Amino acid sequence: MSDCLFCKIGAAKIPAKLVYQDEEIFAFEDISPQAPTHILICPRRHIEKLGDAAAADALLLGRLQLVAAQLAAQRNLTDGYRTVVNNGAGAGQSVFHLHLHLLGGRLMRWPPG
Ligand code: AMP
Ligand code: ZN
Repeated sequence: MSDCLFCKIGAAKIPAKLVYQDEEIFAFEDISPQAPTHILICPRRHIEKLGDAAAADALLLGRLQLVAAQLAAQRNLTDGYRTVVNNGAGAGQSVFHLHLHLLGGRLMRWPPG
């Protein structure tokens, strides 16, 4: 989608600190980190939000989580980490291209705000 910030990052039209990429997924450092590790993991294909994913996207959704686990292992987040998807404005979604947050490197509290 030509007007989408994360599509532009995925296409290298806007700079970002990329930490992972393959044919269907890319991941980069969040510009406003909420933890010592804060990475956003995105499908290359523009899916607006989790609620728009289809059964055919099951493998892709699983791979987003596995990339998060791989990055967490690389960064030695042995004390724990969190993956989060904000679905919709009411949940705090501000960029409408599906992304998984990987947060770690500090104590995580529950419930989240
Ligand atoms: P969400 O609120 O779940 O939609 O998350 C969007 C995230 O994107 C926020 O944590 C922002 O800090 C982050 N963000 C916004 N613009 C950029 C950017 N240009 N590069 C990296 N991260 C960004
Ligand atoms: Zn997009």
